[in-house]
Amino acid sequence: MLAEIRGLNEECGVFGIWNHPNPAQLSYYGLHALQHRGQEGAGIVVSDGKHLRAVKGEGLVNDVFNEEKLKSIEGTSAIAHVRYTTAGGAGIENVQPLLFHSSTGSLSIAHNGNLVNANRLKKYLERQGSIFHSSSDTEVLAHLIKKSTHAPFSEKVKNALTLLEGAYSFLIMTKDELIVARDRHGLRPLALGKLGDAYVVASETCAFDLIGAETVRSIEPGEMLIINEEGMRSVRYQEEQTRSMCAMEYVYLARPDSDIDGINVHMARKRMGKALAKECMHIEADVVTGVPDSSISAAIGFAEETGLPYELGLIKNRYVGRTFIQPTQELRERGVKMKLSPVVQVVKGKRVVMVDDSIVRGTTSRRIVKMLKDAGAAEVHVVISSPPMTHPCYYGIDTSTAEDLIASSQSIEEIRDTIGADSLTFLSVEGMVNSIDRPYEDDNKGLCLACFTSNYPTEIFSDTILPHEKELQL
Ligand code: AMP
Ligand code: SF4
Repeated sequence: MLAEIRGLNEECGVFGIWNHPNPAQLSYYGLHALQHRGQEGAGIVVSDGKHLRAVKGEGLVNDVFNEEKLKSIEGTSAIAHVRYTTAGGAGIENVQPLLFHSSTGSLSIAHNGNLVNANRLKKYLERQGSIFHSSSDTEVLAHLIKKSTHAPFSEKVKNALTLLEGAYSFLIMTKDELIVARDRHGLRPLALGKLGDAYVVASETCAFDLIGAETVRSIEPGEMLIINEEGMRSVRYQEEQTRSMCAMEYVYLARPDSDIDGINVHMARKRMGKALAKECMHIEADVVTGVPDSSISAAIGFAEETGLPYELGLIKNRYVGRTFIQPTQELRERGVKMKLSPVVQVVKGKRVVMVDDSIVRGTTSRRIVKMLKDAGAAEVHVVISSPPMTHPCYYGIDTSTAEDLIASSQSIEEIRDTIGADSLTFLSVEGMVNSIDRPYEDDNKGLCLACFTSNYPTEIFSDTILPHEKELQL
């Protein structure tokens, strides 16, 4: 039942800017660049040095903000957020950044990720008398900061952060300080940039390119930046622990023009396509096509490696929302049809290699194979530029419970049969890790691979809540 009413969630995106005359406008542009990370809601909180003011709303960045609204929140610094799509628990109260007012001053927090010990901390805090308005991780952090007896403010934050376990990129702003923190595993991306005298931070570097800022570096795992009128200070609040950047960011989530830890996402995807081609040299085909948009890079790499022509076999209708916004299986399936169309002249009578970046439930692949065959394709060989996803993600990508993941219960041959393909090949874990090619020494090259290998980089507690369960708990 849960699986039926739930959509597949994506991640959130965060953006922050310190010391700029137009923080709201720049945040608006930054959020535009991060829109692919969440379409359910967007918000900007601005500080003018005295007060924090917010504009937030449900929907796309363009729906939430207009010139008048942006003018109503002028100041010198801002944090901003785009929220992922969900089927349940939507509502303005969940749109970030969250704003907390207390006698000691106002505080705003924007969060990307998922804590694995939020439930434990919440129970502890409730026993201590804290009253929660939601089950969001962000509120847990706010209570921990408030409870801390340390001083100054940055010490309170530091102390609170050491109690958190899981995935997070946090932007925390008071009227006179911006604090930026990334979890000690570095699970979610977070980068630092510079725009003249202003500091900027964002989930992805594509946000810097759009506003003309230069990328400085990634925030390190376990690093906290304290930015105020004295400038920027970096503090290691925790030792780095098994650096574990989410591999799915490179596979699907991030924008191809972003660099994560210095590795360009498009180039990584192209290498994954090439590696996949090497792993399935047995396939005989006429054309290669990619599922737009996230698989185009891998399809180009695949075609380049095999020497087969890359063709536009599928086109995307850009004016319909993402497939995953529709909650039921039936609607989702209709959504895929609304979004994609085959180019009959390309596929008719051809043996087609269809490249996609991943299979979650199998819905997309099944629909597309049928679509290509209905359009006259002689054979459809599905090649996937990531390994079978067998385990759920606890770190903010709601790849659902195991039963929703087709590869958790079906063999590759069974999946091939379910999606109706003539052959099905997944990229190996090794092929994916080597293709992403991050500059770290360990076997995983500093990647989290848990949804492919079940090797979770953090402890998972008996009461760890998956992101979607949070929504349903509200
Ligand atoms: P499915 O149709 O359930 O097998 O989902 C696979 C499709 O969803 C692929 O085309 C991917 O590009 C895309 N995808 C992969 N991971 C996610 C995610 N976490 N959220 C939304 N879409 C995803
Ligand atoms: Fe990313 Fe998978 Fe790790 Fe989740 S479990 S953080 S989706 S690699």
